Amino acid sequence: MSWDLAAIRETRRSAGLWRELRTLETAPGMMVEWEGRRLINFASNDYLGLKSSPALAAALKEGVDLYGAGSGASRLVSGSLSPHSDFESALASFKHTESAITFTSGFAAALGTLPALVGGGDTILLDKLSHASLVDAARLSGATLRVFPHNHLGKLEKLLETASGRVLIVTEAIFSMDGDACALAEIIALKERFGAWLLLDEAHSVGVLGPQGRGLAAALGLESQIEIHMGTLSKSFGLSGGYIAASRLVVEHLINHARSLIYSTAPPPCLAHAALAALNIIAGEEGESRRQCLRQHVQQLMPDKPMVSAILPKIIGDEKAALEASARLRELGFLIPAIRYPTVAKGSARLRITPTAGHSAEQVQRLIAALQQL
Ligand SMILES: *Cc1c(COP(=O)(O)O)cnc(C)c1O
Repeated sequence: MSWDLAAIRETRRSAGLWRELRTLETAPGMMVEWEGRRLINFASNDYLGLKSSPALAAALKEGVDLYGAGSGASRLVSGSLSPHSDFESALASFKHTESAITFTSGFAAALGTLPALVGGGDTILLDKLSHASLVDAARLSGATLRVFPHNHLGKLEKLLETASGRVLIVTEAIFSMDGDACALAEIIALKERFGAWLLLDEAHSVGVLGPQGRGLAAALGLESQIEIHMGTLSKSFGLSGGYIAASRLVVEHLINHARSLIYSTAPPPCLAHAALAALNIIAGEEGESRRQCLRQHVQQLMPDKPMVSAILPKIIGDEKAALEASARLRELGFLIPAIRYPTVAKGSARLRITPTAGHSAEQVQRLIAALQQL
């Protein structure tokens, strides 16, 4: 291997796989501005439209006024402040668990949690389409990593039969690039039969699905059968951060063993203060009406199918064709980037369309018209 990074770039570029940051100017509501063009953003994970909620911005400002800027130290040193524990108590009640703990991001939650729970001699069984944070965390743990084809229960069962040590099944509730759900009831039945544990990443389902937006497990009445609930404050919460909700014993274990928690400065207290405000919105009447609005948008875009999630992939296949479709949509006034390898498998490039409660019915209608022109 040489240090010829330019050659690596050229290989990627010619395959339609090179990525660049685009700097957006934010405009009101769901609009963004890029290279002088105003675009409607259908590419965020802000499912309830909370990232531009004035009430949430006000809560963040109030948090700054009350607690200042940073937290000053790790949670275990002097950075564990009352807004953190207030939010974590509320989050645990919301998730119907004994306890909860927040991290600086969902990625950090995964990286801290998996290696804290399993290691050499143990086994992680991971759905093939799981998020990069779960893949990296599984590798970091040192446990034997076995990947099962997406939602393939037969293969999962086979792997459970030969798995050794502590066995942890890891899956997403709603898959981030496909928008489909895991076979939760069946996976739970299997893990119960084999005495395994389940970590369920609800990044794309909390806020969107279930009573009070409590997620997929809550929608199916299965919350109490999951050992580890993972989630993020960066999507429906409209902020930034990640969390694990679980039994008190598990959370205390993470406080002692999760290195991304122990050796990283606590999130700013104003974020925890705002997260509590976001949680109250999500779980309350306003959350319900935002979810209602989101459901209407999803139905408008996909009239023939029952709603599974707010992630609506339009598979194009070829990477360059997906880039062209995305560029065409930009000309028509929409920001919908092409999702390519390595985020998804080669040859399965796609447009990932995410309506949010922040869009108007008219904006969704205009998107439908634009998609018909592709
Ligand atoms: C976004 C995401 C994460 C990471 O969350 P961040 O808070 O953005 O770091 C983890 N898992 C899944 C499934 C995600 O989509």
